[in-house]
Amino acid sequence: MRVSKLFMTTQREIPADAEIPSHQLMLRSGMIRKCASGIYSFMPIGLRSYKKVENIIREEMDNAGAQELIMPALLTAETYQASGRWEKFGPEMFRLEDRGGRPFCLGPTHEEPFTEAVRDTIKSYKQLPVTLYQIQHKYRDEKRPRFGVIRAREFVMKDAYSFDVDEEGLDKSYQAMYKAYRRIFDRLGLDYTVVDADSGAMGGSGSQEFMVKSPIGEDAICYCDDCGYAANEEKAQCTVPEKDNSEALPMEKIHTPDVKTIEELMAFMNTEPSAFVKTIIYNIDGKIVAVMVRGDREINETKLTNLYDATELTLAAFDDVERVTGAKVGFAGPIGLKEKIEVVMDNEVSSMANFIVGACETDYHFKNVNIGRDFTPDKIADVRNAVEGDACPKCGKPLKMARGTEVGHIFKLGTKYSDALGCVYLDKDGRENTMIMGCYGIGVSRTLAAIIEQNHDDDGIKWPVVAAPYKVIVVPTKVNDEENMSLAENIYNRLIEEGVEVLIDDRNERPGVKFKDADLIGIPLRITVGRRASEGIVEIKYRATGETAEVSVEEALVAVRNLG
Ligand code: ATP
Ligand code: MG
Repeated sequence: MRVSKLFMTTQREIPADAEIPSHQLMLRSGMIRKCASGIYSFMPIGLRSYKKVENIIREEMDNAGAQELIMPALLTAETYQASGRWEKFGPEMFRLEDRGGRPFCLGPTHEEPFTEAVRDTIKSYKQLPVTLYQIQHKYRDEKRPRFGVIRAREFVMKDAYSFDVDEEGLDKSYQAMYKAYRRIFDRLGLDYTVVDADSGAMGGSGSQEFMVKSPIGEDAICYCDDCGYAANEEKAQCTVPEKDNSEALPMEKIHTPDVKTIEELMAFMNTEPSAFVKTIIYNIDGKIVAVMVRGDREINETKLTNLYDATELTLAAFDDVERVTGAKVGFAGPIGLKEKIEVVMDNEVSSMANFIVGACETDYHFKNVNIGRDFTPDKIADVRNAVEGDACPKCGKPLKMARGTEVGHIFKLGTKYSDALGCVYLDKDGRENTMIMGCYGIGVSRTLAAIIEQNHDDDGIKWPVVAAPYKVIVVPTKVNDEENMSLAENIYNRLIEEGVEVLIDDRNERPGVKFKDADLIGIPLRITVGRRASEGIVEIKYRATGETAEVSVEEALVAVRNLG
């Protein structure tokens, strides 16, 4: 391809709304173009890299025995009603109507249509197991689209679904996908970890996420260097520390005027946040619930959602808080609530003694509060986020934390969808049984961005060869010099004959401009035809390492072949 003809425009400035390197570089190198918030076009150079990733995924899915098909993205409401997800998806689902007023959506994920297709196609155990997949656009009206294609509203996902006769079969199908995923991310050269994940909203028993390590990752990962335990923050179990057996002191009500924050309260009481238990009032599917965690902890809303099997969980409105506590916001506690609401207490609090809580009275707190004597929670559960240094739930050693971006997710779904949609088969004895399902997703466009996150420098992208839009760029420094240009054309043509994906920068631009663009778009090998063209000597430069050498044309061609 001739750069002069390439439908591409590069940009030196960092686009204002692009916060992270991959987003900046994808825009600057002309790989993608923003159409609207969270909606992007892939331009020719971007699409080439995108297809590389897609093909690696496709090859590994095919190798694992999965069969590719393609479903519509435009789906009827009924498809999602039987499983309850038409409601459950809430505002994240893009909904629309046809001309007759019939409700439709743009598919956010396709468990239901795949289950319907298998239900209508497979009758007997002899036709099972089967794993199907597609690589297709998904639509989610994300609350906060950001980071370019990492959290987009239209994005490409590879989604696969397995159907088995029993749990053992599911284990096998799941393992096959696990291995395929490892091969995919290994081939792409990503530095990633596999973590235990929450399977709440999807139903099901087991789930793992493939996390690309990244300082800008939206997910927190907890891991243990000693035993290898790794889980995302949503899932990481918090163990209960040893009980504080101090003698219970008499409970006292303390006047705490003008204290608004935990810090102010702690300064006022001359103590640490860990001596305080905060009570947060939630609205969980319309029900008002008080949730207690230690003052320096964060409530884990995923764990709380799972505890209530909830669809919608939000902080309670101010007037709800004031009504149930009888106090201004900031003084909630488990004692003296004005309405009978459920009180959920985090596990860790059960080990505490003589702690401080809000008194359900404006400007007052209680100190020396003790469970059982002063109040009794309705539920005790693990509802907080794990933190660095927490005991590993497997071996007890201190946990570490890192950040990551989720690129893939594998779930054991069980029978949630097959039950709801009547996806059954006849067993050996002619009896009807429900199929056991798994589902497996990879964010294709997000993976592409993750590769850039891990392979770039200040000058641009450093594509690993497997995902590069072109492997080689030939750069003649003087397009008007016949000797220079004819050598460049010669190399270019020979590479084309060898089937190499190659660019020639035939633009009448200064070499500096061409080098900058080649670095920005990240072509792995640059062959510069410069002042020694007449001797048949060119310069090769590797983008990844910056290594350069002056070599003969033949040697340059060998270097290209060795790229792999
Ligand atoms: P997240 O927690 O990041 O929102 P998710 O749990 O909603 O992800 P899944 O429903 O498991 O994701 O989707 C499978 C894969 O699709 C994810 O692992 C991720 O790589 C990708 N993905 C999900 N949402 C988006 C998005 N908004 N933009 C780009 N890729 C996405
Ligand atoms: Mg999501």
